Amino acid sequence: MSGDTEENDQKRDEEFESQVKRLQVPRDALQGFLDRLRGDLKCSFCTTGTYEVAPAPSGGTAGMLSCPVPHIKGLGAWFYSASCSDCGNTQFFLANRARRLMSEPH
Ligand SMILES: [Zn+2]
Repeated sequence: MSGDTEENDQKRDEEFESQVKRLQVPRDALQGFLDRLRGDLKCSFCTTGTYEVAPAPSGGTAGMLSCPVPHIKGLGAWFYSASCSDCGNTQFFLANRARRLMSEPH
């Protein structure tokens, strides 16, 4: 039966890797998507700055954050974030939804 478990673990790992790859988007692409959505919207806190997509530590792609779902092991919600250029106020976007919307024709 340990063979089944290893097979399931491998399948889960592959699905996870595929999910990560799908959500890794160029930072510029996400910034362009948010710019199209928000128009000339300024920061909701200081009202002067604009939101800029946080980069991944490795650079190039948009940074992602995750938040665990309480009481469910191994399940979490993933987010992209954008921070105000002036005050640092930060907005979070569900990565799956943003990624899906980015793929739709516009
Ligand atoms: Zn601000």
